[in-house]
Amino acid sequence: MTKNINSSTSNGNKQPDLLEKIVSLCKRRGFVFPGSEIYGGFAGTYDYGHYGLALKKNIQQSWWQHFVENQENMYGMDAAILMNQKVWRASGHAEGFADPLVECEECKKQFRIDQLDFPRLNLKDSEKVQPLCPDCAGKLSEARQFNMMFKTNIGAAENENSVSYLRPETAQGMFANFKNALDAYHPKLPFGLAQIGKAFRNEIAPRDFLFRTREFEQMEIEYFVNPKDWKKSFEDLRLETKKWLAEIGLASEKIHELEVPDGERAHYSKRTIDFEYDFPFGRNELYGLAYRTDFDLANHSRESDVSLEYLDEESKEKFIPHVIEPSFGLDRTFLALLCEAYTEDEMNNEKRTYLKLSPKIAPVKVAIFPLLRNKPALVKKAREVFKFLHSKLQVTGYMIEWDDNGNIGKRYRRQDEIGTPATITCDFQTLEDDTVTVRDRDTGKQERVKIAELVDTLQNKLA
Ligand code: ATP
Repeated sequence: MTKNINSSTSNGNKQPDLLEKIVSLCKRRGFVFPGSEIYGGFAGTYDYGHYGLALKKNIQQSWWQHFVENQENMYGMDAAILMNQKVWRASGHAEGFADPLVECEECKKQFRIDQLDFPRLNLKDSEKVQPLCPDCAGKLSEARQFNMMFKTNIGAAENENSVSYLRPETAQGMFANFKNALDAYHPKLPFGLAQIGKAFRNEIAPRDFLFRTREFEQMEIEYFVNPKDWKKSFEDLRLETKKWLAEIGLASEKIHELEVPDGERAHYSKRTIDFEYDFPFGRNELYGLAYRTDFDLANHSRESDVSLEYLDEESKEKFIPHVIEPSFGLDRTFLALLCEAYTEDEMNNEKRTYLKLSPKIAPVKVAIFPLLRNKPALVKKAREVFKFLHSKLQVTGYMIEWDDNGNIGKRYRRQDEIGTPATITCDFQTLEDDTVTVRDRDTGKQERVKIAELVDTLQNKLA
């Protein structure tokens, strides 16, 4: 029987040990390493290894296919990370992209005041007004606003005009190119610009592994609409988000939609839904979906003195379109998928760990082994099967892996831990009748399949 140790998180219960296990698996199996580790680390940064990168690319590809390639009215972009500082003045980031920072007067640790977890301290109501340090209960300083953009200088000079920033979101690259998109594609409303790329935020307190880092990736859409139609587009994008979450295998009972109430939304937003996920450290934001009105385009038009109006050819009306923005964190998706997939069970009286990832996004789809690596006839045959599958399957984006490290039991354990849905073994019978065994990751069951039928079997299994 498979016991999924995640089952108790569906009500939002915290499971810190699950996060620890995931962090450890990620390092052990080459998914994610701590940033700059040989120098003692670098807070809020992580490096993706071979399998992590493959998983990340599969998520990106699935998102791009769903939201861009399969849509008629979506256009892709890849804007520069560095932009003219006026972009950040117009967007409001230069002035207001700040979090309230407090510092403990005893241990000097810094915190975002809105993230302090008062109940954890068992504080009385009277003490909550003046919170104490969650680590040492020392006195906290007054809150001050801390701008989270990483500042840099462009070129040799260092003065006010040379200042630029690492972008804290990908969105502004799309607003700044709105006119280019109109001129190049002549799109009709509603239409969207989409991009996937790095964003940087000097987070006061990076935490919870990939959840809050200082360098991360976003997958964002700026969907331009006639203000009359914003409600329909908002609902369409909400439903598409849910469909895509199901496609990549994020179970719906751990996903929650939070309607952000008046007064708690960003000042430019008339409606926001946060998609939240029950992470092992509690329920937290996965994505945001916001109706941003004409805030961005109107501000860029004012700051740049370039008209960003749209002409409706039927009604001859000219207006600045409004925007619906779904913003997806790629690293948070990656983390949620690992939390969802991490499973422990017992097989053949031994404990095992495996990642129950959907075959669509699993980093390696198929692994091939010779039963014994010191039997040349077996290795030769397994190499032939490997080459054959490579030529038939890898062209369609399947990652196929050759594995002859250690004994067969160790190879199964390794492939289970990286979530490979199917493993193929060439054994002595293969030499006689051209059949191989195909093992299923989740059940551990093996079936014998003719090499000639292998491609069909795998394509069905991995669909
Ligand atoms: P939070 O309240 O958690 O700081 P936010 O509301 O500031 O997030 P947005 O500005 O809406 O986040 O960013 C859009 C998405 O980008 C988030 O939903 C999240 O998936 C991702 N994201 C934002 N900040 C980070 C970060 N520091 N590390 C990883 N992903 C992030």
